Amino acid sequence: VGDLFGSGKMFLPQVVKSARVMKKAVAILTPYIEKGKGKASSAGKILLATVKGDVHDIGKNIVGVVLGCNNYEIIDLGVMVSCDKILSEAIKHKVDVIGLSGLITPSLDEMIYVAKEMDRNTFNIPLIIGGATTSKIHTAVKVNEHYNNNTIVHVLDASKSVGVLNKLLGKNSKQFNLEINSEYESIKTNYLQRKSQKQYLSLIDARKNNLTTDWERQTIFTPNQIGTQVVHDIGVEDIRSYIDWTPFFYTWEMRKKYPLILTDENFGEQATQLFEDANKMLDLIIKDDWLRVKSVIGIWKANSVGDDILLKDENDKIIENFCTLRQQSIKSNNNLALSDYIAPESSGIQDYIGGFVCTAGLGIEKQLLIFEKEYDDYSIILLKAIADRLAEALTEYMHEKIRKYIWGYSSNESFSNDDLIKERYKGIRPAPGYTACPDHTEKLKIFRLLNAEENIGVSLTESMAMMPTSSVSGYYFAHPSSKYFTVGKIQDDQIRDYAQRKNMSINEVEKWLRSNI
Ligand code: SAH
Repeated sequence: VGDLFGSGKMFLPQVVKSARVMKKAVAILTPYIEKGKGKASSAGKILLATVKGDVHDIGKNIVGVVLGCNNYEIIDLGVMVSCDKILSEAIKHKVDVIGLSGLITPSLDEMIYVAKEMDRNTFNIPLIIGGATTSKIHTAVKVNEHYNNNTIVHVLDASKSVGVLNKLLGKNSKQFNLEINSEYESIKTNYLQRKSQKQYLSLIDARKNNLTTDWERQTIFTPNQIGTQVVHDIGVEDIRSYIDWTPFFYTWEMRKKYPLILTDENFGEQATQLFEDANKMLDLIIKDDWLRVKSVIGIWKANSVGDDILLKDENDKIIENFCTLRQQSIKSNNNLALSDYIAPESSGIQDYIGGFVCTAGLGIEKQLLIFEKEYDDYSIILLKAIADRLAEALTEYMHEKIRKYIWGYSSNESFSNDDLIKERYKGIRPAPGYTACPDHTEKLKIFRLLNAEENIGVSLTESMAMMPTSSVSGYYFAHPSSKYFTVGKIQDDQIRDYAQRKNMSINEVEKWLRSNI
């Protein structure tokens, strides 16, 4: 199976499905092999872990299954694993490679920490790095230098993992280590060169080039309902039609747009099968109540002050201060910050902002446990991937409710799901941690305002990952020209300014904004 996948003759869903037969067979055979004094041999022992503070593990699970199908023995420590645990388990099991996974920015620093600790404790095994927030550049520029005893390799996705491990542990591993090291060295040199050549505006000049709005002429809609609301009574059946399926296929490393993928020359048959399986599971999720979906939303009075957004309650008492970041690279149009979309205090015009937390992962553990007992990786990954889709679908559904009814600034809109996916509506719902607002710690403010933990059972880890993982949180902006943008690299002047506004040390700010400096 591993070979067929490696040569592109088989797709990921088939591989993951077949893993169940393999795992069941191995479980039955191992005692006999060991009784006969034989030893079950493997291509190598691989420890996998999602680092401390981070919770997402679909990609890591897929890598584990694919490696398992290629005769690697997997020790999967799960999510939120501390460095101490990773290192002690690696020693205990005498593993050949450590693999770290991470989804959110703070995990980049945690990976650097693990690399340093491996070095300090004189480990001499390869370290592989993967997951959404990681990149070859980050690995080469920021992690590589901290671990000199052996090689660090960034692995883009599961289909690449087998090739990399075969090389790392194969006969020519020395040669491979040298190649990787020299490749990463040159990536780093190029990166630093490019960085020093790029030009940025000072924060003062970037602010002068902000987006200006003629607030006198702008219609600001007074929301129909102000304050916080908990929405418990949504069912999976209500949000099912809001699912954006394209990212679902991406999770399975089938990268084509839905619905075209269903008739694709290459993927078509497999994609159709996967889509049918997902819909059968959705039927069961609804019928047997596997998941509960909940949402808490709020709309508050707000005005911008500089790059901050001040929130007020009905008595005009200040209740929160959202801090936003401004683009500093040289632009042909404006240097945006999200605060540009809110009327400034000095205009004397009352504006509003919203916030939300949506989750579709409540209660998922029970069913996952049943699948685990059955060695059913396919259903485990399918359920997690569907729950992620439902969280986004719920977010889309609630955003529509906000625009049409709760805030009501777009009461006459009527969009198809395709229009919604293409963001044809007015307003945005940026999520802290994404590129328009890369600081994950702003989630703390949204969670506090909405009392999200108590109201709907969603909490934040020390790295600001949401639990359950199938959750989305963010702000609502109604400004007609609001759009998603990328803050990109910011400079020391903004870091200093931001640290002051956030009441954080420079070090702390740098840690949270690692991808932007
Ligand atoms: N339709 C897609 C949406 C993916 S983006 C899906 O179902 O997966 C996920 C969320 O990130 C969006 O709902 C929005 O809240 C937020 N988002 C998207 N782009 C962003 C950006 N540039 N900055 C901040 N938040 C963003």
